Amino acid sequence: MLYWEKEIETLSRKGIEKVQVEKLNHIIGIAMQSPYYGNLYAGMGIKPGAIEKIEDVRKLPFTTKQDLRNNFPWGFLSIDKKDVVRLHSSSGTTGNPTVIFHSKEDLSNWANLVARSLFTAGIRDTDVFQNICGYGLFTGGLGFQYGIERLGALSIPAGAGNSLRQIKLMMDYGTTAAHAIPSYLTRLYDVFVSEGLDPRRDTKLHTFVIGAEPHSEEHRRRIEEMFGVKAYNSFGLSEMNGPGVAFECSYQNGLHIWEDAYIVEIIDPISLEPVPDGEVGELVMTSLDRKAMPLIRYRTRDLTRFLPESCPCGRTHRRLDRISGRSDDMFIVKGCNVFPMQIEGVLMKIPEVGTDYLITLETIKDNDELIVEVEVKREWFSGDLDKLDRLTREINRRIRDEVLVSPIIKLVEPGSLPQSEGKAVRVIDKRVKI
Ligand code: ADP
Ligand code: ZN
Repeated sequence: MLYWEKEIETLSRKGIEKVQVEKLNHIIGIAMQSPYYGNLYAGMGIKPGAIEKIEDVRKLPFTTKQDLRNNFPWGFLSIDKKDVVRLHSSSGTTGNPTVIFHSKEDLSNWANLVARSLFTAGIRDTDVFQNICGYGLFTGGLGFQYGIERLGALSIPAGAGNSLRQIKLMMDYGTTAAHAIPSYLTRLYDVFVSEGLDPRRDTKLHTFVIGAEPHSEEHRRRIEEMFGVKAYNSFGLSEMNGPGVAFECSYQNGLHIWEDAYIVEIIDPISLEPVPDGEVGELVMTSLDRKAMPLIRYRTRDLTRFLPESCPCGRTHRRLDRISGRSDDMFIVKGCNVFPMQIEGVLMKIPEVGTDYLITLETIKDNDELIVEVEVKREWFSGDLDKLDRLTREINRRIRDEVLVSPIIKLVEPGSLPQSEGKAVRVIDKRVKI
């Protein structure tokens, strides 16, 4: 069968570890061709062949985003510049961008992983796949493009934004599957509705692939309900190629992370020791196939955990829980630690709540306040004001129960919150820093 790489995807744990140890020893040698790892490992006496069993990976130092920035742009390049055929750069959501280089072979391996991932989510060569995201330095565009082509589906490289055009493409070509960031899809639905269209009735969509930004289970269910599709979580980061790192299968019970291509660890971000299996910590990844720029024990800052038990689909590569956020997403307000996804989870369970929300932290009369602006349907503003008041109080209560801080809730009309072209900005911190 196409892109069901059965032998690899169902390897025993021992089999996976054997592949990982072999590849890691090889990749250490390649990484040492770069100025960064060359100096670092030589100084520490690390050599290819140093890894006998998978636990030995812990003898190697971590690589951080700061290391990438300090050695920008060429310090991690492990091959001759003339053999590099493409660069991608992270979206810079949390600071200066970083750059990742690819050789021809790297791009081909990446396309295989994306094709394998799409197959895992049930997409076939008979599908018409619309890729709704920026084509450029962002890896979601070209990353999916080559994967869709490798799988053999008909690709529509639609790019980001322009909802009316997206809808027209879907209707003209009978799009059956699409990839987009989740915050965009709820907005796209609003455009369907304002055009008098119903995606369940008026399109052939059956599958979405959603990712690139944190989103709650409730947000996923909403998208599925709105469009009448199955929506699969897709995880990736530029430093590990981009999309195609971890993907949900038809059971939608966590993301299989491709362990023949990556070594995956989950650590306590403070002690830097591995967390007990099943506990949440920071995801640390080693790329095993990339030659132009291998990254070893890269601290992703993404928080997740391994899910226990095997998956009924038969794939043996371990599953990650939905990413709950980045370690640096958490904010502290009135002494409580809050992750934006906790608030999203609450909001998306309330049927009256619309598609967008914005969290602002602001100092008001010397107190730090948590303000949550929430879109509700337009009809609400012309009707009974008591009803608005009751909804405000209800949202306040539910958020307070979840995060232990009483927020200021502001209900706003649809479309009134600022919208970004790419990943949604969920939190604005305007607090006066003392
Ligand atoms: P940036 O770090 O600038 O956003 P990338 O475009 O490489 O650059 O984005 C990768 C990051 O996006 C990941 O490290 C993670 O924080 C987030 N991300 C990607 N996919 C998902 C997903 N399915 N769920 C939650 N977060 C995701
Ligand atoms: Zn599975």
